[in-house]
Amino acid sequence: MAVLGRDEIINYLNGGNDDGLYSTADSLREYSFGREVYLRAIVEFSNVCNKKCNYCGLRAANSKVSRYRMDVADIIESANLAAEAGARTIVLQSGDDFSYSPDRIEEIISGIKGAHDVAVTLSLGDRSAAEYEHWFKCGADRCLLKLETTNPDIYGKIRCGEDFHKRLKLLRSLKQIGYEVGSGIIVGLPDYTVEQLADDLLFLSDLGLDMIAAGPFIPHPDTPFSSAAAGGIDLSLRFTALARLLNPFSNIPATSALDSFDPEGREKGLQRGCNVIMPSVTPVSKRRNYNIYPGKNAVSVDVADSVSRAEELIRALGFVASASKGSSRRMNNVE
Ligand code: SAH
Ligand code: SF4
Repeated sequence: MAVLGRDEIINYLNGGNDDGLYSTADSLREYSFGREVYLRAIVEFSNVCNKKCNYCGLRAANSKVSRYRMDVADIIESANLAAEAGARTIVLQSGDDFSYSPDRIEEIISGIKGAHDVAVTLSLGDRSAAEYEHWFKCGADRCLLKLETTNPDIYGKIRCGEDFHKRLKLLRSLKQIGYEVGSGIIVGLPDYTVEQLADDLLFLSDLGLDMIAAGPFIPHPDTPFSSAAAGGIDLSLRFTALARLLNPFSNIPATSALDSFDPEGREKGLQRGCNVIMPSVTPVSKRRNYNIYPGKNAVSVDVADSVSRAEELIRALGFVASASKGSSRRMNNVE
């Protein structure tokens, strides 16, 4: 499927032809999606996590986080407010928090889908394939499960002994179940190489993903990677532009992590091949504590404001905030 060779990718990642890369990525986005940009509203409903990922501020060992869990009614309320403000996709994201039983997640999915004609995306981490299958039957439409790196050794190191093959198996199961599936990596993790990033890109592109999410690594002060160098916006923008070249019809978000380096980071992403933005609609009192990386959710606005700011950002660039759910345009969803 790859139309670009590994050496060419490495050259682009090194900044060998930014203008050519970005204009091709922008043209391809235009070809696939026209002027439409999809807005996905994220409810970050719990920052409790049983994992120890070395890069993430929510890791279980970080005692400096003020932990919260939203109850089912509040999660549904946030989703409903986002839908009323115009969002057509609700993303439910949390740390790996097993206190939310399959029944509670079902209640949330049914509560949202029963009230609004929206797509629901789950980003709950390593739950079992059986649980995900159950939630699919309850009406969940999509899953986002990032591999973070596609190198099994690096994966084991950055996620503190977790098994890459297990995560990949789960990702493949999600496709089999029938979900639209998103995955991706963190760009510029400590000791990254451009060769590894090229391999990540080829690997992700071979998976036939409906969505590819890649944002820059941002060191968090209360993690083992506190003194590592940040990933960098240019590297991340090149990665997502290349992802567009290899995956013309996949949804590719301009991640909020881009804004941590440059107040116009997400705008730059949308002008360089990305077609999705994902504003947080987590209640203001909670969202600052969803502190995956510093600067995350720095803006304190309510749900309606959050959606309307995202729409303004889209319009200011001459795009249109899509009125559709933005379902996958990839053919042959299940491989
Ligand atoms: N617990 C779930 C979902 C929440 S984490 C899971 O891990 O799958 C959401 C995403 O935040 C992760 O997939 C990761 O890519 C990103 N992330 C975490 N720490 C980060 C950091 N320091 N810099 C950039 N992205 C980070
Ligand atoms: Fe938990 Fe996800 Fe952060 Fe890992 S990346 S510590 S699983 S929230």
